[in-house]
Amino acid sequence: MSAPVWKVTEGHLPLVISIPHGGELLPDWLVPRLTPAARERADTDWHMRRLYAFAAEQGASVVEASYSRYVIDVNRPGDGSSLYPGQATTTLCPVETFRGEPLYLQGDGPSAGEIDVRKREYWQPYHDALAAEIARLRGRHANVLVWEAHSIAGVLPRLFDGKLPELNIGTHGGASCAPAMRDAVIAAAAGSPFTWVADGRFKGGHITRHYGQPARGVHTIQLEMVQAVYMDEQAPFPYLPDAAERVQPVLRDMLDGALAAMAAL
Ligand SMILES: [Zn+2]
Repeated sequence: MSAPVWKVTEGHLPLVISIPHGGELLPDWLVPRLTPAARERADTDWHMRRLYAFAAEQGASVVEASYSRYVIDVNRPGDGSSLYPGQATTTLCPVETFRGEPLYLQGDGPSAGEIDVRKREYWQPYHDALAAEIARLRGRHANVLVWEAHSIAGVLPRLFDGKLPELNIGTHGGASCAPAMRDAVIAAAAGSPFTWVADGRFKGGHITRHYGQPARGVHTIQLEMVQAVYMDEQAPFPYLPDAAERVQPVLRDMLDGALAAMAAL
């Protein structure tokens, strides 16, 4: 492996910006097996670090995956179980893009043995790093917020009907954070010019569900944002600074509201 599987920036606030799908790297050993569609990495949560740079500047920690979700999806359970039983969703080691294009030239997705290797070399070290950063902050603060920063194309018929609301707040149906924190994030979304939903199609992935343990002082909230809000959804997927500057104050309101509610617990 040529690059570390994660990047961690340590902050001082009780806040982790978690970016499990921002990784753009494809390992050299994998590239020859991949289709041109796979190499485009269209399903990346593009530009998350740049969009949330304001939070890091204020003292948030950032934990980000280096490698593409096409290698292994660190936001899926390690046992391969579905996040949304009965609905179309993407898997631990996907073999298709969100649009149903094959990722592998010969249809040769990873075997169970290869998936185990990827779990050991990519999935587990990422979770070890995330857990360590949460533990470091919990050592300094009574409560910590893990903000799951995601983005996705707004229209994907294989995954959901119609057009997705622009801001999709996920708290595992309210189980992953204190109720007042969920309420504060909803209030910020409701006061914004963007369309939103809470615990709709996207309720939070593995990280939201696994690490969110409010009684133990770890609160998780996922924000799945429609990419057109801040970037061009067509390749090469450029960041649109003017558009981003319109949503960043809303992100700031959401984070500030959740942190204020957490401080009052
Ligand atoms: Zn994502």
